[in-house]
Amino acid sequence: MTFQAPGEVQVEDRPEPTLQAADDAIVRVEATGICGSDLHIYHGRVEIEPGFVIGHEYVGTVVETGEAVSEVKAGERVLGTYGTACGDCFFCRRAEYHKCDDGRVFGHGATLGSLQGAQAELLLVPHANLVLRRVPEGVSDDAALFAGDVAGTAYHAIVEGGLEPGGSVAVLGLGPVGLSAVQVARAAGAAQVVAVDSVQERLRVAESLGATPVHLTEDDPRGAVKGLTEGRGVDLSVEAVGHPEALDLACRLARKAGTVSVTGVYAERAEVHMGVVWIKALTLRTGHANVIGHLDRVLEMLASGVLDPTPLVTHHMRLDEAPDAYAIYDRREALKIVLAP
Ligand SMILES: [Zn+2]
Ligand SMILES: [Zn+2]
Repeated sequence: MTFQAPGEVQVEDRPEPTLQAADDAIVRVEATGICGSDLHIYHGRVEIEPGFVIGHEYVGTVVETGEAVSEVKAGERVLGTYGTACGDCFFCRRAEYHKCDDGRVFGHGATLGSLQGAQAELLLVPHANLVLRRVPEGVSDDAALFAGDVAGTAYHAIVEGGLEPGGSVAVLGLGPVGLSAVQVARAAGAAQVVAVDSVQERLRVAESLGATPVHLTEDDPRGAVKGLTEGRGVDLSVEAVGHPEALDLACRLARKAGTVSVTGVYAERAEVHMGVVWIKALTLRTGHANVIGHLDRVLEMLASGVLDPTPLVTHHMRLDEAPDAYAIYDRREALKIVLAP
């Protein structure tokens, strides 16, 4: 599945990957997701080379490993994280794997390490000891697919955002990351979770997961948050859109000395009202999630059923239907589309 031009993707035949390093593995992909960040590529907002294979969410079976791979072996069912880390650099030694000096992201072109994507039959996985995990007993492909990106990102938004039991959260943007953030917030003991979006179906899903749904334009998000927090605002705002207007609203929904977790992707300059941020003494947490760092705990949440992302999978399609899948996803008619190669 390759990017060709903005709005244009296609399925092509490519040579099979081969092991490049002693700690590489090759995985036969059995399920691969389409992510909101794939849509940034699809729109041309994140630029990659035409012909690059995209995708970074995957579950499959190990077919081959290099001699230094000790954590997984051929024949095992595995999932992996959206990107890789070396395990040895300054940042990895501090467990800040998402900022690894040698970090690479699957399916994001030369700027993020020239690592061909997971929307493919076979995937070369570098640093497999760090990047891959066996799928725990009883966890479905659909659920496992979330661990390496969406659920790990939601976990990061909530836990690194400092939520404490009894706290309050607003989630802006109810795509898979936002809806997973609702689930993680509930699991982490949030007393109030306010979920904001403009798509009724997504608001209904958020409500079924225990959030108070608030329509972005037909309701009054600021009024609703004030009403639920004695006028203070929420402890933690999660911006799961990647748009300056959502970021502005997230800053306004947070209480004084609260935190805004900027989970949506930014690749360009965006303005925040620094007066609001400063007067309210807000903390802004930004950037990629440390999904490798959170992976084992997220898997425990999936295996125990504390976190169940399967209601967020709305479509199963074949990999060769991917051009249609992207069009459906672009029209916001799907939450998570899982492709089977
Ligand atoms: Zn993603
Ligand atoms: Zn590193």
